[in-house]
Amino acid sequence: MTTQLEHARDGTATKQMEAVARNENIDIDTLISHISNGSVIIMNRGNNNGDVSVGIGKGLLTKVNVNLGTSTLKIDPDEEVKKARIAQKYGADTITDLSMGGNISHIRKLVMENTTLPITTVPIYQAAAEKGLGNLNCDDFIKNLKKQADEGISSFVLHCIDKKTLDIMKKGKRIMGVVSKGGSITSAYMMLNDCENPFISNFEDVLEILREHDIVLSLGNTMRSGCIHDKRDKAQIAEIKQNVKLAKIANGAGVQVIIEGMGGHVRADRIAEYVRFHKKQSCHPLFVAGPLPTDVAVGYDHIAGSVGASLAAGAGADYLCYITPSEHLGLPCPEQVREGLIAFKIAAHIGDSIKYGPAQRDRSLARKRAMLDWEGQMKYAIDSDRARELAPEEGPCTMCGDFCAIKIMKEFI
Ligand code: SF4
Repeated sequence: MTTQLEHARDGTATKQMEAVARNENIDIDTLISHISNGSVIIMNRGNNNGDVSVGIGKGLLTKVNVNLGTSTLKIDPDEEVKKARIAQKYGADTITDLSMGGNISHIRKLVMENTTLPITTVPIYQAAAEKGLGNLNCDDFIKNLKKQADEGISSFVLHCIDKKTLDIMKKGKRIMGVVSKGGSITSAYMMLNDCENPFISNFEDVLEILREHDIVLSLGNTMRSGCIHDKRDKAQIAEIKQNVKLAKIANGAGVQVIIEGMGGHVRADRIAEYVRFHKKQSCHPLFVAGPLPTDVAVGYDHIAGSVGASLAAGAGADYLCYITPSEHLGLPCPEQVREGLIAFKIAAHIGDSIKYGPAQRDRSLARKRAMLDWEGQMKYAIDSDRARELAPEEGPCTMCGDFCAIKIMKEFI
């Protein structure tokens, strides 16, 4: 298969590129040029005509990813299907299946059967869940890539932390150490076996698998900070440099790349600067988890994360990984998936209004609001179902009743 990146380098506009250009209202030649230099990727769900293609990166709207999937302590495939349907219904751009409990392959199949969005996985999760951390061998790192690539996965998250960076982190003084699950599994394997990261030692093979299926390589963020007092340290900088180096090699092999970074917990006043620092190192689309600008919003981390994500997106982050109210507390239920997704869609919209200026959508809703046109407003609301539940059918709402400012002033202006 020729990848979107290879097509772009040949100057060929694919159906998927045309669809992204149309949806994003961007000139096709500009899009092709961004794809060819690695600053935009197109994630696809199987062979499609562009109807399920998502563009991420420079000049495009900020995208939102929803994580779902079982854990070893909570296994309910039906709930995961509900979450997947909610993610699709309420406007997620991509879904990541992080299942680690039950029949993982079957759950992934169900998620895929019930959605059309691009699907990401962290293949080492399945290997660790099925074999146990202590029994993993180097082959397991690659075997799962092949298996999942054949199933039509759109993007893989691989934590490509190297031994040197791990040593730097061990000498540091972090409160929270490593808080990335995929990163901790990979790091634990490297320490247990006193070896280099198998993804790095087999990078050519990894790239061959990804290139063959045009799977986007999402370079994981093992060194992200787990609390706002763990600032950007030498280990984080070493990981950024390592990921940028690998991204260049991957692009050279025709593989599209996203770099995860800047995620976790970051003080609000540092978020924009950290994003800009990251963006200066590389033009690849930047994927951020959160970031959470405070550690104390437990139970409301979707709100705190949405504030951090607005700042990150406004400063240039391209792709947001949502957070739910049950972050740090448990596996989210379907309703919490909806709440987290909506919070991050709001963050993406605010971030885009900083990046590109206020959207026509806000103006359109304001005009309907000024007319007390409730149904008209619903068309532009991010979650019209929720807004409709709360709104009156007509006239002023119960907030001010007869003293509705809009109604009063209509008589004078
Ligand atoms: S009643 Fe108050 S809150 Fe409701 S629409 Fe009028 S001004 Fe707005």
